[in-house]
Amino acid sequence: MKQIRELVVISGKGGTGKTSIVAAFAALAGGAVLADCDVDAADLHLVLDPKLGSEHEFSGRRQAVIDTVACTACGRCAEVCRFAAVLGAADDHYSIDSVACEGCELCRRVCPADAIHMEPVVNGAWMVSETRFGPLVHARLGVAEDNSGKLVTLVRNEARRVAEEQGFPLVIVDGSPGIGCPVIASLAGADLVLAVTEPTVSGRHDLDRVLQVVRQFRLPFAVCVNKADLNPELGAQIAAEASAAGAAFVATVDYDPAVTHAQVAGTDVIDYGGRAAAEITKLWEAASSPLSPPPEREMLDA
Ligand code: SF4
Ligand code: SF4
Repeated sequence: MKQIRELVVISGKGGTGKTSIVAAFAALAGGAVLADCDVDAADLHLVLDPKLGSEHEFSGRRQAVIDTVACTACGRCAEVCRFAAVLGAADDHYSIDSVACEGCELCRRVCPADAIHMEPVVNGAWMVSETRFGPLVHARLGVAEDNSGKLVTLVRNEARRVAEEQGFPLVIVDGSPGIGCPVIASLAGADLVLAVTEPTVSGRHDLDRVLQVVRQFRLPFAVCVNKADLNPELGAQIAAEASAAGAAFVATVDYDPAVTHAQVAGTDVIDYGGRAAAEITKLWEAASSPLSPPPEREMLDA
């Protein structure tokens, strides 16, 4: 079986141009499965214009439910809940606030009437859609739902499954933002992590934080300073720091309004064209080289 490689593109902060770069990579890859793991604010579909596949429900947590017939209105559940998720003590009719409930089950354990049980909560959906560059696995979290990383893991696993089934050698992941559970779920086991940043104080700070996470997992990584010419001095400092931190390579892409124009036109920057398209093509060549499968055994032996 062909070895599937995984390129994960992350950014410590929003607005660095990560998704535009992922969409451009999709255009350049010549066939890859795409995974949008930025499930809080999925937007890869906006530039890839997929033919939407059927939705599958996602349940990432459980919540308590009170059987009002069995409940004796003793109030014990409301006393122990640390999240103020038990409602209705005033009129002796108890119920659960499904947004506030954290699913800890303490109320169920203390209820003397055995009137509480736990039920799965549907808090999102995921889809496998078709784009002009290959399948796209993406998801949508429900309103006010936490992104625990479970949905990110599901999206990545599905992307690998689709790649295996359909014979794609590469999965390109649009990673989650920040440094918490979702980004860790995006990163684990990646063959190469590309961190996209911008030459600003917050870009430098957030890149430093996210690279600490990447290095903790001992993952090979590279850095792209996007919109580098907006502050060449800071861009050069960030590039030097990334090299010193062990980046496999550091690339820069200058600001090009064509990237925004491509988004407005609902397409990728490679299709739209411009200076950034040429620079991102060079970035892709640098990123895809370490992702190439190792030579076959016979070739090594020859
Ligand atoms: S602990 Fe059980 S019986 Fe008491 S109020 Fe809560 S649900 Fe009702
Ligand atoms: S499961 Fe936990 S958070 Fe939810 S209502 Fe019961 S005690 Fe409160």
